Amino acid sequence: MAALKAEGIILRKYLLRETSYILVIFTREYGKIRGVLKGARNPYPQFAGNFEIFTQCELLFYGKRKKGMDLISRCEAVDFFLPVRKDIERLTYANYFIELIDAVSNDHEANTELYEIILEGLRLLATESSPRRAGRIFEIKLLDAIGLGPRLDECAGCSSSLPEDFRFSVKCGGIVCRDCAKKEGASMEISSGTRNFMRRIHDIPFTKARQVKVSKVVGREAEAILKKFIQYYIGGQMRSMKFLEDMDRTGVLRKV
Ligand SMILES: [Zn+2]
Repeated sequence: MAALKAEGIILRKYLLRETSYILVIFTREYGKIRGVLKGARNPYPQFAGNFEIFTQCELLFYGKRKKGMDLISRCEAVDFFLPVRKDIERLTYANYFIELIDAVSNDHEANTELYEIILEGLRLLATESSPRRAGRIFEIKLLDAIGLGPRLDECAGCSSSLPEDFRFSVKCGGIVCRDCAKKEGASMEISSGTRNFMRRIHDIPFTKARQVKVSKVVGREAEAILKKFIQYYIGGQMRSMKFLEDMDRTGVLRKV
């Protein structure tokens, strides 16, 4: 069987015996793959960094054998996103991004849009830009890429045109009118500013979205809404998000 060539982002890494790794990699061409990389630890310790999580890499692998694991014959780093690894907040966001990608991607099912989003997300985190804002852009783009983007143009409950007086319902999947909000019960407040910010990010490509400015108030409101939305539709609380919240409470994070 011929080796398959791919480009990917490492999502998880496990040690296997003395010299090998099991790597879970989200590839552009084949979606998520999990494979054994033999003889990678010794005698080539200088390559050890090639296999750190959220490294962008180029790889050669042989598709699933009988036992269900792919066999990775080569894995070489393209980008380590070094500035991300030097800052605890950026690092935690990068972990959050790959946790989300891991949760929504399937083995051997390509989603190039999702791949571009994780790549752009990590690139944005590696700049001077606010990691918090990068987080919101990533969340909105990810939800869009998997067909779960919140409805922001009309009532998600009754499809009436966008009411002047609206709230946000996670369960209905977006903005709702007062009547639907009453029926639903557990809706959240959302300002026009937050709705416009989310809509703007939804409308433009990731590379343009990185230039969109956001106020602290809108940023915080979008964060609360997207957090609940992601918990409801993707499930559970991501470990890294919990860590970010704990750090936030202790006041060590940036204020914007
Ligand atoms: Zn309605």
